[in-house]
Amino acid sequence: MVSIPRVETPRDLPDSAIRKLVDGLLNLAYPEACALCGAPLSRSRECGVCGACWDRVLELRIGTPRCASCGLPLPGFDADPAPLCLECLRRLPPFAGARSWGHYSAQLRGVIHALKFGGKRNLADCLGPLMAAAFLEAWRKEDFDAIAAVPLYRSRKLERGFNQSELLAASLGRVLGIPRIRALGRTKSTLPQVGLGDADRWANVRGAFECTLPRGVQGKRLLLVDDVMTTGATVSSAAGALLGAGALRVSVLTAARAVL
Ligand SMILES: [Zn+2]
Ligand SMILES: [Zn+2]
Repeated sequence: MVSIPRVETPRDLPDSAIRKLVDGLLNLAYPEACALCGAPLSRSRECGVCGACWDRVLELRIGTPRCASCGLPLPGFDADPAPLCLECLRRLPPFAGARSWGHYSAQLRGVIHALKFGGKRNLADCLGPLMAAAFLEAWRKEDFDAIAAVPLYRSRKLERGFNQSELLAASLGRVLGIPRIRALGRTKSTLPQVGLGDADRWANVRGAFECTLPRGVQGKRLLLVDDVMTTGATVSSAAGALLGAGALRVSVLTAARAVL
């Protein structure tokens, strides 16, 4: 009997080896570029952002002191948490507290734009661990039952193909081991908050959310996730819908915080 020499076929190669091979070939043919600066990127690098740009993202982390309620950076105070910011003194938010990982500017704004408008969904998996770090600075995961994402209106989600806040909530949930709950719906199409004045921002999102799963949120301690927080009008409205449906407590976490 003639023995047939065994040739290693792609079927025998582990998945990761095949992926490396294919990535290597693709990289030769179509080198990937950094989503922010366009520098050529090794395809094996996760996220699609080069090391230099990611280092700049990391420099945008929000430090102390912050408003005790909404987490607004309040440089100049010597205690953390600082007293309430003027906005929270004027209108105490319905949520139990809010945190954001970084300042919504420069490279972090670029990453969020690339995620939202450039369709670079894998960036959510790079922001998730940063948001988890901000979460763990403020809270303990045992104190939360579920994570809910701020929803997009149907037509906008269809147009974009995904909701960036859901992707962030999914990544964060995987890192922290907290389950996700789909409990919110958007009842009306709202204008983008960017570009609106303060009063218009609050009017724009008033009544814009409904709890679609009241039995799922009753008595629950929830973490509400969004990509960017500015005045807090959007997350306040969404948190109000969850609390109105019987949630015990809603805290807020966003990837970035825009300071007006
Ligand atoms: Zn870059
Ligand atoms: Zn505040």
